[in-house]
Amino acid sequence: MKKRPRRRSLSGDVSNVQSVDVAAMEEVRVFPLTCAVQNYAWGKIGLDSEVAKLVVGGDPVAVIERDKPYAELWMGAHPKGDAQIKDNRIAQTTLGQWITHYPACLGSKVKDAFQGQLPFLFKVLSVNTALSIQAHPNKELAATLHAQFPEHYPDNNHKPEMAIALTRFQGLCGFRPVDEILGFLQAVPEFHALVGRDAAEELRSSVGDEVRTGRALKKCFTKMMSCEKKVFVDELNELVKRVTQEGAAGKDTSSSNGDLLLRLHSQYPGDIGCFSIYFLNYVVLEPGQAMFLGANEPHAYIYGDCIECMACSDNTVRAGLTRKYIDVNTLCEMLNYKPASASSKIFPCVPDPADPCVTLYDPPVPDFTVMKIQVPASVKDYTVASVDSASILLVIEGDAMATSAAAFSDVTLTRGSVLFVSANESVSLQVTSQSGMTLFRACSLL
Ligand SMILES: [Zn+2]
Repeated sequence: MKKRPRRRSLSGDVSNVQSVDVAAMEEVRVFPLTCAVQNYAWGKIGLDSEVAKLVVGGDPVAVIERDKPYAELWMGAHPKGDAQIKDNRIAQTTLGQWITHYPACLGSKVKDAFQGQLPFLFKVLSVNTALSIQAHPNKELAATLHAQFPEHYPDNNHKPEMAIALTRFQGLCGFRPVDEILGFLQAVPEFHALVGRDAAEELRSSVGDEVRTGRALKKCFTKMMSCEKKVFVDELNELVKRVTQEGAAGKDTSSSNGDLLLRLHSQYPGDIGCFSIYFLNYVVLEPGQAMFLGANEPHAYIYGDCIECMACSDNTVRAGLTRKYIDVNTLCEMLNYKPASASSKIFPCVPDPADPCVTLYDPPVPDFTVMKIQVPASVKDYTVASVDSASILLVIEGDAMATSAAAFSDVTLTRGSVLFVSANESVSLQVTSQSGMTLFRACSLL
C-alpha cells in the first residue's frame, strides 16, 4: 500500500487554515474508497477477473499483472483489508480509522447494535477454481468454537453470507433431495462403499419421515467424512478411472455426475470433497440471482464472478476441497441436514416498493442487506436515497457525477468506483453514460 501525503496547507498561516479544514472535515461524510485486493490462488487470472476489471475501471493507472490471480475485492473496514480513503484532504487514511473517529456515521441503531463497527464486509469474488466446502457456525456455536480453538476460529461472530451472480455462477449448496442421493448411491458404487450398506439402507427406508431422514442423512455424511484417507483415495481413484474410461468410450457419465467430478478432481486430486457432489446440490445462478448461506448450510463456490456480502467474521468450518484444517466432528455435528432442491436454494430478491430502480436482497439477518440499483438509460438524474445506516456503493456499469451535501467535492463515478456513504446522507447522480447505470449497495436495515 502506498502512503498518501498528509494534508498540508499551502498558506503560511498553518494553524488557522488547518482549523478551518478540520471544521470542514467534520462535515465530510461521503467519500470515495480504494479497496483491498486479495490475490488468493483460486482467483481468476489477470483481466479475466471481474475483480481486476473493476480495479482498473476505478483507477486507470492501476497495474494488473497478466499471470496473477485477482480473487477478491474487499469493500469495508476489516483489519485484513481496510479500504483506503481516496481523498488526501481527510486526515484518516483508512475507512476503519475514520469510522472509529466518527462512529455516528453508522447510524444510531447500527452503531448501538454492532458496537460502533461496520457490521458487514462487502466483496466482489472472481472464482476460477473451487473454494473449500464449508459451513459457518451460528452465533452460539461460534462463541463456543472460538473459546475452545481460537487458532481455528478467530472470532465469536456468526458469518451469514449472500452471493449475487455477476456472471453465470456455479456452486454447491445444501443437501440434495433424498431421491437424488439414493440415485447416486445406486449408480456410483465407489460412493456407496464410503457411506456403507447400513447407513445407505437407513436413508432408503427413511423416505417420507422427515426426522428419520435428517438422522439418516447425518449418519451417511458422517460415515463418508470419517473414512480413512487411504480408503477414500483408493475409491476416488477407482471412480475417476471408471468415469474417464466411460467418457472416452462416448458413454453418458451424468449418472455419476462425471463432468463435475473430473473437474473438481483435477483441482483437488485425492480430496474427500470430490464425493460431496453426490450429497450437495449443484446450483447455477444466472446474473442477478442470489444464494443466501445461513448458519450451518454446507456450500462451496465453484466458478464465476459474484457480489458477496457477509457479517464481519472469519469463522469457517471446512469439509474438503482444501488443503486447510478440516474439523470433521464439528462439521458433521453442526450441519443443516434438511434435503431440498437446487432451485429452492435461489434466494428471492424483491422490488423495492419505494424505488422502481432498486431490487432488494434482504436476508433474514440484521447484519446486512444488498440493493441492486439499475438506473435506466432514460433517467439522467437519480438520487441514491438516504438510509439509517452507513452504506457502501459499488459501480458495476456506467458513469456519473456524484454530488452530495456531505461530500468535499463532486466525485466522478465510473465502473469500479466505490463510495462510502454515511447514514442519513443522500447522493445525487448525474448519469453521463448512454446506457444507464448499475450499482450495488450494501447497508444494514435493522
Ligand atoms: Zn462461506
